[in-house]
Amino acid sequence: GMPSAPAPVLAPRRKTRKIKVGKVDVGGDAPISVQSMTTTPTTDINATLQQIAELTASGCDIVRVACPSQDDAEALPAIARKAQIPVIADIHFQPKYVYAAIEAGCAGVRVNPGNIRKFDDQVKQIAKEAKDAGVSIRIGVNAGSLDKRLLEKYGKPTAEALVESAVWEASLFEEHDFHDFKISVKHNDPVVMVRAYEMLAERGDWPLHLGVTEAGPAFQGTIKSATAFGALLSRGIGDTIRVSLSAPPVEEVKVGNQILQSLNLKPRKLEIVSCPSCGRAQVDVYTLAEQVTKGLEGMEVPLRVAVMGCVVNGPGEAREADLGVASGNGKGQIFVKGEVIKTVPESQIVETLIEEAMRIAEEMGED
Ligand code: SF4
Repeated sequence: GMPSAPAPVLAPRRKTRKIKVGKVDVGGDAPISVQSMTTTPTTDINATLQQIAELTASGCDIVRVACPSQDDAEALPAIARKAQIPVIADIHFQPKYVYAAIEAGCAGVRVNPGNIRKFDDQVKQIAKEAKDAGVSIRIGVNAGSLDKRLLEKYGKPTAEALVESAVWEASLFEEHDFHDFKISVKHNDPVVMVRAYEMLAERGDWPLHLGVTEAGPAFQGTIKSATAFGALLSRGIGDTIRVSLSAPPVEEVKVGNQILQSLNLKPRKLEIVSCPSCGRAQVDVYTLAEQVTKGLEGMEVPLRVAVMGCVVNGPGEAREADLGVASGNGKGQIFVKGEVIKTVPESQIVETLIEEAMRIAEEMGED
């Protein structure tokens, strides 16, 4: 087919240093990656690997696993070796697990400066071992576990406090000539979070890991993350993202990918252009859109499918899409690349759209 122009974006990416998280580059000109975290006990190696496989299949680029105990640390080598995507060990309290994770072959280690009190005097050794092993680090500052010193200074985890903590920890690593780290400054309030990342972006060229922490159940968490990430990504800030939801991690990955696709920061795949329906609708648009979405889930090619309730905007949108239906009088006009290819009774709209989508996808795949 014709080479298509690159999709427009809202802002050029901020220039950050590129680091490696195993086989995935983060920062610089690397695509913005999507992360999630397993919810299985890390000690249950099979269940954890199973979840990592599901996350990989849903479009996760990097996965984090919690490592709160020695038993978890002992599970890391098998998980790191067998996972399809790079594994980051999440360490909060014990520097000894940082060394265990490096030894286990993890691609990265997340440390929380607020939680690792003994951390500051061990930076030199952590930096050395991480560098020797080619392991990168995330300095993961979190409002809920801010360093006591800063909590006392600022009274609460303000954006300034988060940034001061991050910059301080970054300087400790830099003093030892270690630069393979990214930073996050997470807060559950999107406004504070956005402010913190904006300020942090001004302070250095570190690659940034975006996250709204404890964002809530799926609906609220999706919106908090989308608005906060949108505000930052639309200004070029952010190199890797993690959507935190009180929901299965596969959902986090789907939301993360959808945010990136919405901003053209990742190639769009399936896109359903469906109308909200209104008093003019002549079919049940909700059901139709839902059934089409379900029927086409997992589509790997960029396909715009328009599902429109009536003939007002219907034919126009349906024509702009690769495929579409405009409904009226109990029938659906099926459009492919702007042409009506057939008119089917309402009961056959869904199956016809799915059939045509599969056919087009196959043609696209052959390109
Ligand atoms: Fe209403 Fe028709 Fe527009 Fe859908 S396409 S919102 S039914 S006017």
